[in-house]
Amino acid sequence: MKSYNGKILEVDLTKKKFNELFIKEEVYKNYIGGSGLAAKLLFDNYDFKDKTLSAKNLLSSKSELSSKDLISPNYALSPENLLIFMTGPLTATRLPGCATRFSVCSISPLTGIWGEASCGGSFGIQLKKAGFDGIVIKGASDSPVFIKIVDGNVEIKDALNLWNKDTYEVYDILKKEEGVTTSVSIGIAGENKVLFANIANEPGNYAGRCGLGAVMGSKNLKAIGVKGTGNIEFADSVKINELRKELIEKQKKNIALETLKAFGTDGAMTFYMMLGDVPIKNWNLGLWDEGGDALSGMAMAESILVKGRTCLGCPVACKRVVKVDEEKYKMNEGPGPEYETCSSFGTLCFNSNLKAVANFKKLKDDLEIGPKVFALNLIIKFIYHNPEAVIFIHSPNKEIIQGDREDVKPDVKMEMNADVAHRFWLGKVNLMVALTKGDIKAKGPIPKIMKLLPIIRSAYAIYKDYLKEEGFEELVNVE
Ligand code: SF4
Repeated sequence: MKSYNGKILEVDLTKKKFNELFIKEEVYKNYIGGSGLAAKLLFDNYDFKDKTLSAKNLLSSKSELSSKDLISPNYALSPENLLIFMTGPLTATRLPGCATRFSVCSISPLTGIWGEASCGGSFGIQLKKAGFDGIVIKGASDSPVFIKIVDGNVEIKDALNLWNKDTYEVYDILKKEEGVTTSVSIGIAGENKVLFANIANEPGNYAGRCGLGAVMGSKNLKAIGVKGTGNIEFADSVKINELRKELIEKQKKNIALETLKAFGTDGAMTFYMMLGDVPIKNWNLGLWDEGGDALSGMAMAESILVKGRTCLGCPVACKRVVKVDEEKYKMNEGPGPEYETCSSFGTLCFNSNLKAVANFKKLKDDLEIGPKVFALNLIIKFIYHNPEAVIFIHSPNKEIIQGDREDVKPDVKMEMNADVAHRFWLGKVNLMVALTKGDIKAKGPIPKIMKLLPIIRSAYAIYKDYLKEEGFEELVNVE
């Protein structure tokens, strides 16, 4: 079947043996995608009667299992559990956002049920080019090992020199000493079977969900290094290239993808905060403006960001590269935090210090709104209807201009009905939703518009006070 090799690698770490498994075309068709195929392989090998639980057990009121059994990591961390790395039909196609992805699947030690994590980087592409669509790991080695795969040649090698090393170091060593192009590995957390341990592919890409690093650690498997130089045959490469071009063009007009590009996954912090969907103070609060602003992708762009980064060939480039100079949180240029890091180590812990979150120095004291707006170096034009009004914020000249002016060329234009504007300045309009619905029309570079959000939010209270001072108190309580 085109876009696949038709075989996966099966490695038994107890016996230190490996084998090629040939997969029927109908299986590929019926279980599409890396996690689909992995689910089929895992559950074909899973004895539902004897193991801790099954979906049936979970749903059955007659189940004799206690809740303790359900979350027991015993089975997940036993040699019987399978750890599966799997590519999908789109891996290596160069299609944006999916060509680099691969799945890692297993029974999760955190939940005792199915666990899967998706990861970027180049491991999936290299694996396919090395001749395998996936790897199924079973058993457990009695001492640390790593697997080396170079163009279909497989070796199980001693990993004592890699043990106790972090994933960045392991990646460097395997590249330098073993000549592989990429690798997946666990760090100290995985070795110690910490139940939320990750598996890393190159610095900055993680199969982070469901504690699959602990499963890898339980098998004494420190890493898998791969080099693949083969070609993948696709059914219609011309069509794939056309599709790639089309998707890249669509991306440029898509607010969500352009936000991802400009501010990384943490660009969503502000939006999720507005929805009340950010874990704050261990889920005690639904809103934390100060934290949301300080930990947002926009704040990162203004403080520690060096540049954006991408998984191989992906034009979205949502990854961050950051650098911190201050001694306390000093960090050399390297992978920056994503939304999950900023929420887990930031909002969840009620820590609004972005630099501390990413091992960084304290944020400087908040500036006043005026200097912040003027620092944007933008000319923003607000056009209101019913009644009509035009206002410019002219950052370079540090002035506010009332009334339309043909000689002033705005970088960003925002147009809306006056009642939308009123509710907007009271903080009752979600900018992203309003832009999507067309209640607010914006013209200009989307990343620059998004940069306005945290600043605008600080202005809500001022607008409220202004209305009260001017005797328009009744206008404050609109819905
Ligand atoms: S750069 Fe971002 S969007 Fe593109 S594949 Fe990597 S993680 Fe996904």
